Amino acid sequence: MAKLQKIAVVGAGLGGVAAGALLQKAGFQVDIYEQAPAFSRLGAGIHMGPNVLKIFRRMGIEDALVAMGSQPSFWFSRDGATGDYLSRIPLGDFALKEYGAHYVTVHRGDLHTLQISALETGTLHFDKRLEALVEDETGVNLTFADGSTAKADIVVGADGINSRVREALLGPEKPNYSGWVGHRALITGEKLRRYNFDFEACVKWWSEDRHMMVYYTTTRKDEYYYVTGVPHDAWDFDGAFVQSSREEMEAAFVGYHPIVQALIASTDEVTKWPLLNRNPLPLWSSGRMVLLGDACHPMKPHMAQGAAMAIEDAAMLARCLAETGIGDHASAFQLYEENRRDRASRIQAVSNANTWLRTQEDPAWVFGYDIYAAPLKSAAAA
Ligand code: FAD
Repeated sequence: MAKLQKIAVVGAGLGGVAAGALLQKAGFQVDIYEQAPAFSRLGAGIHMGPNVLKIFRRMGIEDALVAMGSQPSFWFSRDGATGDYLSRIPLGDFALKEYGAHYVTVHRGDLHTLQISALETGTLHFDKRLEALVEDETGVNLTFADGSTAKADIVVGADGINSRVREALLGPEKPNYSGWVGHRALITGEKLRRYNFDFEACVKWWSEDRHMMVYYTTTRKDEYYYVTGVPHDAWDFDGAFVQSSREEMEAAFVGYHPIVQALIASTDEVTKWPLLNRNPLPLWSSGRMVLLGDACHPMKPHMAQGAAMAIEDAAMLARCLAETGIGDHASAFQLYEENRRDRASRIQAVSNANTWLRTQEDPAWVFGYDIYAAPLKSAAAA
């Protein structure tokens, strides 16, 4: 019987699609299984730092992303009430020169579509909700909610915070609600024109226990986006998010600067998301299954690096598997975890603490990182 040389990636979020594309480019046969019937352009933006753009260079989508997104010259942090500047972190040309790639803010849906274009045609399968995984000495059998099945040599769990693959490795456990929610809204550039304000390209407004991060999502600057972090006693709603309202935003940001009030007044639709977390997992892989991204180390999104970590994981996993081949997946998974755990855990801790760039600091350890530059470290080889 011919030997399987096949990788199944479960979940086609930003991490899963990056894993699929990078593993395909490394020469593996990869199929990606996604529970959603299709993707829509949900109302959210995302930051992609130079650490990720260097990976997109390998995926062949860096230039298209730069052409699509906004490239802020600075990340500003400002006092929510007075507007005083707390930090001015240079990005723009400085990022290109110092960190080796652009810093881009973009619409999340546009980025996702661009990433998907890097996959081999016919390898992304929608409407495939993974229900069961059974591993034996010949591979892993996957069963989906529609009754169909697949078999692969190894399985990459890129299925987000409620990961079914994580559950297969470690048992059922709900994520922790952090006590904070994030509100998300997109505002058209048109709405902002009636104000005589300088709407900065990337600015975070802070007060003691809450914040509002704001940035453009297009090169044309015709779409402005905000995402908040606001304390909220309990998450007792069904679903991944619920509708919020302008009134709720006004109450949450009372006393904030007139620019923030203008953004709230310009809000047509705003959604509210629980910010969830998990304690560090005791293992990232077992047998033929390995985790990445939010399935492995979810974090509060306050450093704008959650998806970035999922994409860095994908790049490192592809690098390690290329080094060992699928046949020695155990060594690849060990190498992958050894080369990812410290960085992902450090970023998880800073992100959860919500201190990133609040005051003037050097972000080079995050943005300057090039996942392909450092030699792989291996405890086994040491
Ligand atoms: P996900 O994006 O969750 O993707 C998982 C995929 O798996 C989904 O498509 C899901 O449908 C699919 N799936 C789930 N279960 C199954 C199953 N059983 N079978 C098949 N498919 C399945 N990060 C940044 O880097 N920058 C930011 O600016 C940023 N802003 C954020 C703002 C907010 C409010 C929030 C909540 C998060 C933010 N993040 C940001 C974090 C980022 O969204 C996540 O870290 C990132 O999406 C994780 O990617 P992932 O691919 O691991 O998981």
